Amino acid sequence: MQIENILQSLGLNSENQGTAVGGRFFGSGNKIHSFSPVDAKKIGSTSSTTQQDYEEVVNAALEAFAVWRTTPAPVRGDMVRKFGDRLREKKAALGALVSYEMGKSLQEGLGEVQEMIDICEFAVGLSRQLYGLTMHSERPSHRMYEQYHPLGIVGIISAFNFPVAVWSWNTALAWVCGDVCIWKGSEKTPMCSIACQNIIAEILQEEGLPAGISCLITGDYKVGELMTKDHRVALISATGSTRMGRIVGQTVAERFGKTLLELGGNNAMIITPSADMKVTLTAAVFGAVGTAGQRCTSTRRLIIHTSVYEKYKEAIVNAYKQVRIGNPLDENNHMGPLIDKDAVSNYLQTIEEAKAAGNTILVEGGVLEGAGYESGCYVKPCIIEAQNHQAFVQKETFAPILYIMTYESIDEAIELQNGVPQGLSSTIMTNDLRESEQFLSAAGSDCGIANVNIGTSGAEIGGAFGGEKETGGGRESGSDAWKIYMRRQTNTINYGRSVPLAQGIKFDL
Ligand code: NAD
Repeated sequence: MQIENILQSLGLNSENQGTAVGGRFFGSGNKIHSFSPVDAKKIGSTSSTTQQDYEEVVNAALEAFAVWRTTPAPVRGDMVRKFGDRLREKKAALGALVSYEMGKSLQEGLGEVQEMIDICEFAVGLSRQLYGLTMHSERPSHRMYEQYHPLGIVGIISAFNFPVAVWSWNTALAWVCGDVCIWKGSEKTPMCSIACQNIIAEILQEEGLPAGISCLITGDYKVGELMTKDHRVALISATGSTRMGRIVGQTVAERFGKTLLELGGNNAMIITPSADMKVTLTAAVFGAVGTAGQRCTSTRRLIIHTSVYEKYKEAIVNAYKQVRIGNPLDENNHMGPLIDKDAVSNYLQTIEEAKAAGNTILVEGGVLEGAGYESGCYVKPCIIEAQNHQAFVQKETFAPILYIMTYESIDEAIELQNGVPQGLSSTIMTNDLRESEQFLSAAGSDCGIANVNIGTSGAEIGGAFGGEKETGGGRESGSDAWKIYMRRQTNTINYGRSVPLAQGIKFDL
């Protein structure tokens, strides 16, 4: 499909307004231009949300909430079902836009939209299962139970690397829970945000629902701050760097708001002597070079048993020779560009740090030049022999740089795996039951995600997604992650004719 046709089918123009309440777009703040990292061409421009625009959005959202919170949850689920159906129709176009604006392979762009469809399906079922518990009261003729009520406005701040899926992980659940959403997508991928808003706006209009159920604001961190500082926004769900999460977490805590933080990772794969070579190589290479190393779950460290170290080192270096880098919309390519030139600088700087420290570079990195690479954002995936404690290994560089290191005992491997500030995803490649169980035990991986014989990236929506330590502790998507989008209320009902007090306290008038 031609880019022009893709943009047209998603309702995108060369000039767009970046603030929206449902399908009503407005605002005339500073312009934001979106350039594709694929070919450096301008995709379009949009406007930043001003304080005045933001007030209009919040008022519309509060108005919508008054209606939405008392709409039966299964009816809310029906709206999400229709949204999922519309995403099915738009999958090809939206997937291609993700690939073109963000730079990930077309397969991964389509996969991202599939994830949106999947979470909608999950949320539809959930809309009939927002269960609370019933407890036995210690007092006679009393009944006690808990129920979950909608929170209000959910403010979603998202990163560039999942420009559409993260929004829907939050919105699909928040909407069935009875909340309304205001989304500030990444300023690096504004066209994806507008395309998503156009899709949901159609559904809201067709169903005659309040437009303020889904709102969009656009801009950089300053626009994000309008929400993080605003006590009317009950929950801030923020996805991005640990640096951002530290600021957002403190700002929202200051006003006793709720946060759901999904921050940086530093994910490792432990390769044991019994690992299956083919499974391991496929998982390791996809984990390290997929999305050009720009997934929060990208594999950044391989921790390899000394007895198989040389064998795996050679195999992975050879496997890297087969990685095809180029236009991500061409399905023959495995890896597209980095998001922008700043990302390229960070990548080069980290490689320089490793070189300055005397580390051995097993596969040389560098920026690709020449035909097809004119945007200056295409880099070579790089492999470096490293020690876990080195400063550049301890930080997350959002690029295809893979560190490899050795271990002697499984205890040591787990210690290395856990020995970083982040705690998102981890995996062990083994056919030894004792090793895998130790890795999954309370004394094993300290991450939110711990896998066996699959890579660190590529989670399914059915499980709760998120990580510990500097990854922020949040959980979104499946399992009972929905509870963060609701407030819990404990109800005790007395159907007797006296007032017995709990703990046997006597108080007679
Ligand atoms: P980023 O932190 O630069 O920006 C993320 C979002 O936060 C953007 O929308 C940005 O405008 C906003 N923002 C930044 N500072 C803010 C502030 N002070 N107040 C309010 N909003 C603010 O991240 P990025 O470069 O877009 O994305 C890459 C990072 O995201 C990586 O660290 C990656 O690991 C992380 N990430 C984590 C997950 C996860 O689920 N754990 C998923 C995707 C990405």
